[in-house]
Amino acid sequence: MSEQFDFLVLGGGIAGLFFALKAAEHGRVAILTKRARNECATRYAQGGIAAVLAKEDSIEAHVADTLNAGADLCREPSVRLCVSEGPERLRELCDYGVQFTRRADGLLDLTREGGHTRRRVAHADDLTGGEIERALIQACDERENIEFFPDCTAVELITLEKISRSAGRPNRCLGAYVLRPSGDIDTFLARVTVLATGGAGKVYLYTSNPDTATGDGVAMAYRAGARIANMEFYQFHPTCLFHPHAKSFLISEALRGEGGILRLKSGETFMEHYHPMGALAPRDVVARAIDSELKRSGDDCVWLDMTHLPTGYLIERFPNIHATCKAFGIDMTSQPIPVVPAAHYQCGGVDVDLDGQTSIPNLLAIGECACTGFHGANRLASNSLLEGVVFGHRAAKKAAELMDTPLDAIAPPWDAGEAVPSDESVLVTHNWEELRRLMWNYVGIVRTNKRLRRAQRRIEMLREEIREYYWRFNVTRDVIELRNIADVALLIVDSALRRKESRGLHTTLDYPDRDDSLRRDTLVTRGEIERPF
Ligand SMILES: Cc1cc2nc3c(=O)[nH]c(=O)nc-3n(C[C@H](O)[C@H](O)[C@H](O)COP(=O)(O)OP(=O)(O)OC[C@H]3O[C@@H](n4cnc5c(N)ncnc54)[C@H](O)[C@@H]3O)c2cc1C
Repeated sequence: MSEQFDFLVLGGGIAGLFFALKAAEHGRVAILTKRARNECATRYAQGGIAAVLAKEDSIEAHVADTLNAGADLCREPSVRLCVSEGPERLRELCDYGVQFTRRADGLLDLTREGGHTRRRVAHADDLTGGEIERALIQACDERENIEFFPDCTAVELITLEKISRSAGRPNRCLGAYVLRPSGDIDTFLARVTVLATGGAGKVYLYTSNPDTATGDGVAMAYRAGARIANMEFYQFHPTCLFHPHAKSFLISEALRGEGGILRLKSGETFMEHYHPMGALAPRDVVARAIDSELKRSGDDCVWLDMTHLPTGYLIERFPNIHATCKAFGIDMTSQPIPVVPAAHYQCGGVDVDLDGQTSIPNLLAIGECACTGFHGANRLASNSLLEGVVFGHRAAKKAAELMDTPLDAIAPPWDAGEAVPSDESVLVTHNWEELRRLMWNYVGIVRTNKRLRRAQRRIEMLREEIREYYWRFNVTRDVIELRNIADVALLIVDSALRRKESRGLHTTLDYPDRDDSLRRDTLVTRGEIERPF
């Protein structure tokens, strides 16, 4: 079966929804989500969205903070544009119905977060992303031109190059093959296809990200021949709950802010050996320190101790964290909380220009799956929701200009070949676990060439097995995601091996210093690394 739209949006997080609302003024929009409509990273964002809104703040100050966090690798035009357009986009979020927390005088309540020199983070209590997702979905429901396709997974992009290699016509994206809940794979064609698929935290064993974050947009774009940038820069949050059943629960940095002490299994403290600010050191410093202690001791986690603080205060100040830990059998008022660093945010992604245009015509990318150059080598807190709306808006303007692209291409239906239902699902589970564990152990927070090469060899072997499985058996969402995390894993390793310096989030013991002669983006396209797929 084949469907046709003006705009095909893969992803229903902040970036995809914001794009859809704007693009719907020009044509029909389809929004695909892999799981329920609101299941995505956006929904779990707690802190807020940064923008210059206070009198005491300035565009220059926000630009400077962002450039500073990005370790001299931000693209300055992207930073200036994102920061300057931020306030207007934030006002539009309010117009779309987002209820941010307000002060008694009716103005937005702005908080300050690590790395920001001013109060500029708008929030909806500590559930900002959930509120944004609610309001934007409701606004989309009110537009006749927008149709949702939940539980639909894009499998592969369709490009002219792929379907008519010999015709010699200029390449462009035509849409995507999509796995429906029924198991059928249908063709979705569009004038413009937009990747808004979010990050890839699930590449790592421990992550703050939801299950949707398997890097599908980057993997599909890479296989289609698009340029990918800066995948070595993965941000790790220092403290995620360590528990076999707690898949991705973040223990907020506010706990350390309120006096939490990080301890080893023996009860010893260790942060004083790493930074003068101890447990209050910046996010990446704490994550590296914990990683180093875990590598040294072989332990699974460290402990965040709050037990010296009054019980009543802890319950009142951190009701959600207290209740969630309790549900996992941990009473934070009387026991330290076991924590590990966790993969949190992908700074690299599909390389785009200031309008979200990728290197393949009629294929745009926005949000966490795109690399706009805004974050450089390290992301400033609360800048990612901002990037989602600014580039969602700009990409919609670009998409409107592409409305004259003909919808006449005839893509062949998905060819399932000789595939049969799988009787070996255990392979998927095993490879999934192995891949994420080896990424955690060898390609985590602190890297070496030896560990990266070892990871590279193993990922290549796993990709071979996955490839064989992929073509032999009927395609399922699990296999699609496994194939994608394997591709993204290799992109992270390849990019990390290419960067022969330590900068921002990329730390390697082989090149411990920053080398400004190497200050450039790491760009990868499929033809460069000759591998199957
Ligand atoms: C716990 C947590 C807290 C955070 N806190 C903050 C914060 O306070 N401030 C901030 O700025 N940032 C924060 N972030 C980061 C921020 O939430 C994300 O970067 C941002 O929400 C990403 O939005 P997005 O639209 O790009 O992707 P997402 O919101 O992740 O949406 C991705 C969408 O793509 C869909 N999708 C994926 N693959 C496919 C496919 N193959 N086919 C079809 N659909 C697909 C998914 O189903 C989903 O709908 C936080 C992240 C986490 C995990």
